[in-house]
Order: sequence, then C-alpha cells, then structure tokens
Amino acid sequence: MSKLYFIVGSQDLYGEECLLKVRRDAEEMTAFLRERLKDIAELELLPTVETSELCIQDMRRAQMDDDCVGVVTWMHTFSPAKMWIKGLQELRKPLLHLHTQANRELPYDKIDMDFMNLNQSAHGDREYGFIVARMGIPHEVAAGYYQNESVVGQLRRFAEVAKAISYSRQLRVASFGNNMREVAVTDGDRVESQIRYGWECNYFALGDLVQRIDAVTEAEIDAKMAEYQSRYTMKTDRIESVREQARYEIGLESFLSEHRIGAFADTFQDLYGLRQLPGLAVQSLMGKGIGFGPEGDYKIAALGAVMMKLAEGRDGATGFIEDYTYDLTEGEELELASHMLEVPPAFAATKPEIDVLPLGIGGKEDPARLIFDGVTGEGIQLTMVDMGDHFRLICADIELVKQPKPMPLLPVARIMYRHKPNFAIGTAAWCYAGGAHHSIVSTALTRKDIAMFARLTGTELITIGDDTTEADLQRFFTKR
Ligand code: MN
Repeated sequence: MSKLYFIVGSQDLYGEECLLKVRRDAEEMTAFLRERLKDIAELELLPTVETSELCIQDMRRAQMDDDCVGVVTWMHTFSPAKMWIKGLQELRKPLLHLHTQANRELPYDKIDMDFMNLNQSAHGDREYGFIVARMGIPHEVAAGYYQNESVVGQLRRFAEVAKAISYSRQLRVASFGNNMREVAVTDGDRVESQIRYGWECNYFALGDLVQRIDAVTEAEIDAKMAEYQSRYTMKTDRIESVREQARYEIGLESFLSEHRIGAFADTFQDLYGLRQLPGLAVQSLMGKGIGFGPEGDYKIAALGAVMMKLAEGRDGATGFIEDYTYDLTEGEELELASHMLEVPPAFAATKPEIDVLPLGIGGKEDPARLIFDGVTGEGIQLTMVDMGDHFRLICADIELVKQPKPMPLLPVARIMYRHKPNFAIGTAAWCYAGGAHHSIVSTALTRKDIAMFARLTGTELITIGDDTTEADLQRFFTKR
C-alpha cells in the first residue's frame, strides 16, 4: 500500500503544553484524512517538527521509505522556516502544503493570546510557503478547512498524482528502432526526460526482440488466441495472420517483463525480421497498461503509461491517439483521430473486431488489427513537446462524440471529438503552443489532474478549453 507522510510544523518556543495540543490536533486531523484517503494511500503522522534536526529526520524517513509516494505538510503554529531548509533538501518526492487549521470557526467569545499563538497557520504557513517558493521546490498548495470536500478532493488527487509520479520515476522505456526519419515533434531529450520524470529511455536491438518472437511456441499462441477469442470478435478467416500478431504479443510481453519495461516505441521504418507491423499485438498490450509510442515517439509512450497509472481505478478510457483528419463543416467541425493500427481498445464503444486488411504503408504483409468505434463523453487531450530548453505539456478539453455516419471502408479503430471553445480557437491554440500530432486522450482524467502533475513535476503547462479566448493565442506562442 502506498503511503503519504504528514509532517506538522511548530517550534519549542511555546512550551510543552502547546506542543501536546499540536500533537493531539494533528492526530485528530490524521485520523479524519486517513479515513478519507484509505482507498488510495495510507496517511501516517510523523513527529512534529520543532527543530531543524527533527525536520531532517522526518524528511529522510519519507525519502528512504519506498512505500512513501509523497509528503503533506502543515504549520499548526509559527515554525521558523530556516528550520525547514535542510529537511526539504533531503526530500525529492511530491510535496503538498496543506494550508488549514484545526478549528473551522474563530471562537470569538473565548479567543485569547494563547489560542492565537497555538492556531496561527495564517502566519506559519506563509513563512513556510516562502521557503518552499524560495527553494524552488515544485509543490501543491491545498487551502481551506481540512474537512471541506474541496480540500479532501485535492488531497485525494494529490495521492493519485503522487502515486503516478512514483511509478514514473521507476518507468523504463524501450525504443525498438529510432525516431521516424525526419519527424520533429516525436523526438526529444532523453537525458532530461530521466532527470525530470525518471524515465529510463534506452534502445534495444529489434533483432533481439525478433529472436524472442521466433522462439514463441504454437501452444503459447493457442493460449493467446483463446484470450483474443474471449475479448474480441473474430471477423476474419485469415487466422494465420492473427496468429502472427499473437506471436508478437507473447514475444513482446516476455521481453518487456524480463527487462521490467513499462512503455515502448517502435517504428514502421524498422521492422526487419517481422512480417507485419505489430498492430493487434500492440493494441492488446496497451489494453494491459503498457505505454506505446509509434514512429519512435518515446515521450508519448512514457506519458501514456504514466497517465494510465494516474487513471487507475477511475471510470473512463485513457490511451494513445494520433490527430488525423477533420470534418470542417462550418460550425460543426469535428476531428477524426486514429492511427495506422495502434489504437488502444480502452477507447472501444463496441466490442472490437479483429480483421486482417492491407496497410498501404511500410511494405509488409497485411496486418491483423482491432477495429471499433470510439467512446463518447467529456475528455481531455494531452501531449508533451520538447521546446529545446524545457518540456511543455499541452492539455485541451474536448468532447468525444459518436461518429455522425458509418465509415465502412476505414479499416482502423477511431475516435471523434469536438474542440473547445470552438474549432478555430481550440486547434489554433494547439498549433501556436506547438502541440504534437500524438497525444493521450482520456475520459477519466481532467485538466485538474494534469495541472497538478505539471506543478509537481515542474513542467510548463498550457491549457485550452472553454475559458480560452482569441487574446490567449498571443501568449501561447513564445518568441525565442
Ligand atoms: Mn503517428
């Protein structure tokens, strides 16, 4: 079970009695929040910070505990912030500054100097806020009475995002083949990716994967085919072509699990030794939470895996997609998003059908793939680009819609969506911001989740939605 540590600040200036009261209030608060967070993470109270030494001890404990995904801090009394510097330097995990009080209302008739000295987060939390800001530590501030639904909701989101970041920091990303020739936006700084997000992005020889795929037995393929039969509708009688994809999935699964890889990228320009472009195989793996990026797009593979982790336990679909083509009927503009083959089955509104059809690119045999119409509802579209000196996240609110008419000749899975606030502003904003044509679409995540992820990883974020105006477009473009 993941843990969050709760660290409460005070000092030794107020005497034993005051510190006892701080402890009791902190315990009460912990009990309340612990109950409200228990399905996501366990909240544990650490010793009150009264000195720099105690702060270092608490933060070291949080940093060293592999189960701990994040830290929540709150200043019950004033707590001089130089006491926090060395402790905070020990912490490299997500941090939430809870700006709250033990009491909801002021006891107007009883309040005296003792009460005010004991309950002074308005004072202490600003002192603490300064040092966190001064030290440039990415963090989240949750302000309000701790029992308020909005505050509890923010803490719950923090627990989920912190878990996703913890996953991110252990994520290994494999590249089979390099970035697609000449393509810009899918490339990126892998060293910076590891420094900022923890992604270990490494190259693996396709030949080693092919060797693994060639070693798959017919019995293993039979078992995988039974899995496909139970999940999907077999629309083709070209069973040998489907078995070829089953072989790829088994080989990939074995290779990824041996190297503890959670996301991978391949490219149709480097399929030496494979008869088909992996389609069904990759779709099926994405359905199991494996991140995937086509054309060597390691960033979207990793981001997809992290976002699927963040969405875990929630209703809705999350996965990779590519912007493809538009219906530009004025006032009713829609986008059709899809890919050559690799659209995650999470987006399926209907039971996916397995079919074997020509691909028209890559010069390989006809690949098996899953075909379906997409889910509908409110969602987000998220991408990450490398601006040369920093990563940028771009998150647009979208509405996923049912395709207006059948597309009987389109041999791939697809989703359709409407841009916000409208086509002209929404898509122009995406272009001004340098948004990629690969993204993660989700009906499970919201802009708030992404904003918190961006804050806690120190990533620039541009959001697009109903609150975006034409005037905003100017600021989305950064002149270098
Ligand atoms: Mn693509």
